[in-house]
Amino acid sequence: MADHTYDVVVIGAGPVGENVADRVARGGLSVAVVERELVGGECSYWACMPTKALLRSTAALRAARRVPGSREAVTGELDVPAVLRRRDAFSSHWKDDGQVSWLDVAGIALYRGQGRIGSDRVVEVTDAAGATTSLTARHAVVVATGSAALLPDIPGLREAEPWSSREAAAARAVPGRLAVIGGGVVASEMATAFAALGSKVTMLARDGVLPRAEPFAGELVTGSLRDAGASVLLGAEAEAVKRDGDGAVHLTLTTGEVIEADEILVAIGRTPNTQDIGLAAVGLTPGDWLTVDDTLRVLGDDGTPLTDGWLYAAGDVNRRALLTHQGKYQARAAGDAIVARAKSEPVDARPWGRHVATADARAVPQVTFTEPEIASVGLTAAAAEAAGLSVRVVDYDLGAVAGAALHADGYQGRARMVVDEDREVIVGFTLAGPDVAELLHAATIAIVGEVPLDLLWHAVPAYPTISEVWLRLLEAYGR
Ligand SMILES: Cc1cc2nc3c(=O)[nH]c(=O)nc-3n(C[C@H](O)[C@H](O)[C@H](O)COP(=O)(O)OP(=O)(O)OC[C@H]3O[C@@H](n4cnc5c(N)ncnc54)[C@H](O)[C@@H]3O)c2cc1C
Repeated sequence: MADHTYDVVVIGAGPVGENVADRVARGGLSVAVVERELVGGECSYWACMPTKALLRSTAALRAARRVPGSREAVTGELDVPAVLRRRDAFSSHWKDDGQVSWLDVAGIALYRGQGRIGSDRVVEVTDAAGATTSLTARHAVVVATGSAALLPDIPGLREAEPWSSREAAAARAVPGRLAVIGGGVVASEMATAFAALGSKVTMLARDGVLPRAEPFAGELVTGSLRDAGASVLLGAEAEAVKRDGDGAVHLTLTTGEVIEADEILVAIGRTPNTQDIGLAAVGLTPGDWLTVDDTLRVLGDDGTPLTDGWLYAAGDVNRRALLTHQGKYQARAAGDAIVARAKSEPVDARPWGRHVATADARAVPQVTFTEPEIASVGLTAAAAEAAGLSVRVVDYDLGAVAGAALHADGYQGRARMVVDEDREVIVGFTLAGPDVAELLHAATIAIVGEVPLDLLWHAVPAYPTISEVWLRLLEAYGR
């Protein structure tokens, strides 16, 4: 009988599962990953890659039209089939051969099927034909099963066959009219993309647009969506949905207003993929998010690692930060901690040690690829105040920076620096404006490095770039 014992077994081969596996393999441990769909996960096929590919062509066109000279050279319209073809290529045509070859080269075993924790250190894999293989882990089992779109309980919604982010990201055609339920990052990005691709978009943003960002971010995105012809209904909530025989969908709002559309996209949040992974076998509740310590070990209700600390959870499934880069950061920390523990080496759990994912709580960078782009890291002013910090907020009009004015005519944007006055360090930073995404990492370094504002004064931004906003913010702060 074949031996299915490995040092580490990872359930889920999304970006996070792949990175945990890679890290432990590099550390000299044997490892298997279990995947029920495509190796590469949500990010590669239905999330980051396809959505950013859909947004990129329209952003490039907008950028060209903002600068006299290049504007005159753009004489045609957006080529929608070409945009969709490029999106298809960036989604690897929904085939995972490339990722599977990579696993092979990295020496990582792949088992296809649904993985479930069976008992201590044992994962049962049920393949498409219903056959089950039992995998045993000598040192650790890592749950990296990710998350799925949440569907609200609105009468008629399920029967109307709404799009989740998956169908939007992989759309074969652009609907004439698209209703979007939600106002968060995914809803705002997809409203931006489909409005630019030609849909008449109506967005029902019950809690506002980008409610977790600095308020000016949502205001700028709302304004530009409206300029692009979308209706953004702030505070609006659907109470019933019905799809007609002719395919049109009717959304009745709580105000009685009825919105008609060809497709509805629901983007109101995520739910963890933990319903059917055998959590009951370790005393946890199926369907719950998993709580972890900073080395990503799963914790029980008493706040201590479960089951002798062999169970880990990284990525979306632990709800710390539902972003690929942050999940991959957790994967590196967890992978290295697993290797250290397997070799009885010390685990570096100091606040910024190699085996902990401390930045999840202090410095999560995020770019929302709307128009304008919103790039943020750390705390918003409101969150910093709620955390009891002695906060000073410094804002600057990005359009007044020479580099930004050169970058595009009529450049509009804003930057905000949130300072902890007691320590004179930055704890939050937000940029809103065209092409600000690449500026974000400087702020992440300033926050993680806790660089004193006095020292930042010596980090001179090049002229004439948009980065000069750093100098303007320091001047406004009073340095
Ligand atoms: C529309 C959209 C756009 C996004 N854009 C960005 C972006 O631009 N940048 C960014 O950083 N983040 C983005 N995200 C978030 C990002 O996609 C996730 O944070 C990331 O995919 C999480 O990785 P993961 O490995 O934890 O989970 P996933 O990518 O969800 O992978 C989990 C894998 O586990 C498998 N699996 C689940 N259960 C089992 C089981 N029981 N047995 C076997 N296999 C199982 C799944 O099939 C899947 O392949 C976006 C999300 C959405 C929805």
